[in-house]
Amino acid sequence: MSTAENMVVERSKAAPPEVRSQKPAVDPASLNHSDLKSGEFWRDVFDVSTDEFLDHMWQMKNSLYGEKQLMKVLENVAPAKFLDDAARGFRLAPMMVRVTPYLLSLIDWNDPWNDPIRRQFIPLAEQLEMDHPMLSLDSLHEQKDAPVPGLTHRYNDKALFLPLNTCPVYCRFCTRSYAVGKETDTVEKVNLKINPKRWEEAYAYIQTRPELEDIVISGGDAYNLPAKHIRAIGEKLLSIPNIRRIRFATKGLAVMPMKILTDHEWFQAIADVEKMGRKMHKQVCIHTHFNHPVEITEISRQAMNKLYENGIMVRNQSVLQRGVNDDANIMALLVKRMGEINVHPYYVYQHDMVKGVEDLRTSLQEACDIEKAVRGITAGFNTPTFVVDAPQGGGKRDAHSYEHYNRETGISVYTAPSVKKDKLFYYYDPIHSLSEEMRENWKDPKKREEMHNDAKAQAQANI
Ligand code: SF4
Repeated sequence: MSTAENMVVERSKAAPPEVRSQKPAVDPASLNHSDLKSGEFWRDVFDVSTDEFLDHMWQMKNSLYGEKQLMKVLENVAPAKFLDDAARGFRLAPMMVRVTPYLLSLIDWNDPWNDPIRRQFIPLAEQLEMDHPMLSLDSLHEQKDAPVPGLTHRYNDKALFLPLNTCPVYCRFCTRSYAVGKETDTVEKVNLKINPKRWEEAYAYIQTRPELEDIVISGGDAYNLPAKHIRAIGEKLLSIPNIRRIRFATKGLAVMPMKILTDHEWFQAIADVEKMGRKMHKQVCIHTHFNHPVEITEISRQAMNKLYENGIMVRNQSVLQRGVNDDANIMALLVKRMGEINVHPYYVYQHDMVKGVEDLRTSLQEACDIEKAVRGITAGFNTPTFVVDAPQGGGKRDAHSYEHYNRETGISVYTAPSVKKDKLFYYYDPIHSLSEEMRENWKDPKKREEMHNDAKAQAQANI
């Protein structure tokens, strides 16, 4: 036997190579973040062709505005008991209803009571809860921090510019219900209509404040700004030397993604402003608002592909809501699904203290628990930060960074040294999340004051 043949025999007698430990194969069901709803899923509610459904003009013309229009369509798809409950809900709501056909088609009409999209847009009287006694209409003090109408300057280097007061849909939980949408039986609105003359005041202010680098263009919703205004606002803000970053805020991708595909003029305006910013080494991006994984369909993927191919970055800001996404598995799926279509999950907000939507709020503890479960499922840069937008104008604080949190009374206390030094900011868990005894205590003004004073003293002791 040759030496080489000897070596072969020797090797075959040797112990088999050690098998490295491997992670067990994953359950294919755990990869469902990439299975997006496709086909003509709208046919049960709207019997129209794909071409019509994908046309943003058709979506806009057939959007349902106000109770009467909505009820007319729902009569054919929703149970009678549900319609009755919704009719009573509308009368108590601070926001006028407005929904797109796309959104309505995503609702499960066999069980609309528990559907996550229905919960966000259609109020049901039976599910409403009493407002928290500490709630106020502009809970974030956006108007108090506004040096000129429609411009909030709270953080040192960032301002919120509100050039309009309309949106393609109206969300029940809108923090800006003090201005957004039509007046309702329960709320008189601040006037922030499209008005280029009013905008001049905002530009003039921004020019006098060299510390301002970052402008959020919101509203209302940038989807409802005509293309010429997207260009005018974008070009004006980019031309201000101190401005380094602008973001157009729109819920559009979650409620009418087809606009990106078929409103060529609007898309081109955004793409051109982004290109202009890139040439000036300034950042232009879109901030959007997905709350539940079912809001992401193949149409969203196509819209995002078009934005991505054009170099337009999209970040997402979700709101944590009871019965919508207050479940670690749902939130994890939402985060992974956004990663799938190149939307960057940026923030999950603890629900603001908004009039008429206590049924949607969760306790702060739930936010902390869900954050813990979600962190680690994917890359850190694709993991959202859970924040509390501290009432009374404290700005966004990491949900876990409270100075004090009493889970019995539901009071949490935050500080915001770089926003408003030496001030304490209080957030209140919804009454429905507290014990029976605590619910009674909140009804008594004296006990309310005691709970408050105790939270203040505890927070001060911890600082
Ligand atoms: S789209 Fe935004 S601004 Fe408009 S109603 Fe919804 S949350 Fe409010």
